[in-house]
Amino acid sequence: MWNLNYEKAKEIIDVLSSHGFAMNKKFGQNFLLPLSVREKIVGCMGDIEGSEIFEIGPGLGAITSVMLKKGASVKAFEIDHGFAEILREEAFTDEPGFTLVEGDALKTLKAEGKCPDLIVGNLPYNVGSVMIGDIIERGMLSRKMVFTLQKEVVERICASPSSKDYSSFSVLCQLDYVPSYAFTISRSSFYPQPNVDSAVVVMTKKEENLLEPEERSNFFMLLRSLFSQRRKTIKNNLSRIIADKTELAAILERAGIDEKERAENLSLEDILRLYRSI
Ligand code: SAM
Repeated sequence: MWNLNYEKAKEIIDVLSSHGFAMNKKFGQNFLLPLSVREKIVGCMGDIEGSEIFEIGPGLGAITSVMLKKGASVKAFEIDHGFAEILREEAFTDEPGFTLVEGDALKTLKAEGKCPDLIVGNLPYNVGSVMIGDIIERGMLSRKMVFTLQKEVVERICASPSSKDYSSFSVLCQLDYVPSYAFTISRSSFYPQPNVDSAVVVMTKKEENLLEPEERSNFFMLLRSLFSQRRKTIKNNLSRIIADKTELAAILERAGIDEKERAENLSLEDILRLYRSI
């Protein structure tokens, strides 16, 4: 029976070294230790009994074990070969609700035909925002997503227009979801201790989709162009994709947007209006 005490860094190190494995810095491996914090993260998903959850980066299963205990089915996506071996052959080998997909989640998630009920992950700092962007752009729109990320990334996800943290990533995250900053996790809760603080973001799916599936890629292209040079005006940034000045002026006028405005001041509604006007 797997009874690793996830709260003790020494037990984690021992289990890895007993298998001849070590942690790998390049995969952003910081284990979350306190059970109270792991339970709080799982609690952010609500009642998960019987739910199908995708977990990105399970590590040795610190959050996975909490979810399985609560009666959820977990499909975990882990890149580290050593962790995967321990998860598959030791930790959750007798758990019928556990499935492992080994490899880079940026690639393996693409092969998933089905969208799960919920997605969770204590994401590696280096690729956390890329993963979230990728999930949303591909339209894997679960009912709720709960991510642990560098605090500044959570602030960017939740940012309002005209604030310093607002970017195309904020708009992307707010297109289909209502994100909320759930709580901060101090760096001392992790092993090894990172040199940044972390936070948990809860992203709840909006009831209605604001775009049709076939509209999404053009919308994302517009979004990237709008924010391509932050200090430049919308007119300037859009002139790269709409070369005809008269046409561009007419599009902005139809959308009711001043050509001297900057993208950082546009709300999601403004950008949707601009998209429709194009
Ligand atoms: N869930 C564990 C916890 O909370 O203690 C570990 C979290 S650790 C911050 C990030 C995990 O993501 C590691 O297990 C790491 O190996 C894994 N990881 C990093 N990059 C990945 C990728 N591209 N695809 C899948 N897993 C990845």
